[in-house]
Amino acid sequence: MAQDTIFGKIASGEIPVEILAETDRVIAFPDIAPQAAMHILVIPKTAEYENVAELAAGDPELLAEMITVAKRLADERSNGEFRIIFNNGASAGQTVFHVHAHVLAGDLGEGSLVGA
Ligand code: AMP
Repeated sequence: MAQDTIFGKIASGEIPVEILAETDRVIAFPDIAPQAAMHILVIPKTAEYENVAELAAGDPELLAEMITVAKRLADERSNGEFRIIFNNGASAGQTVFHVHAHVLAGDLGEGSLVGA
């Protein structure tokens, strides 16, 4: 169970961010250190899942909702095409243990990889 992470505080409204998209169960906001022309984080409001593997096993519909929000953001802010990255585990580059999708679009740069 992910608890007391910075994204949990963002999801609960304790830490304010610019909300770029929101559904009943998902919010999206800009990454503080963007690695592409468009770099948005999509997270579930629940802090129940630390990483995407846990989420896929526990609530695949919520994972699908995150992808749908990513597509909507890419449609609204770019050409509808996007790269999505989930770092799953510390050795894979995950630093915040509240599952989040990095959604990148626009100018990705040469070999842009979050956490690489
Ligand atoms: P990861 O390394 O996959 O866990 O990604 C964590 C991401 O969160 C990084 O890309 C950070 O730049 C981003 N980040 C950390 N704190 C904030 C914050 N307060 N608001 C927005 N993005 C953040």
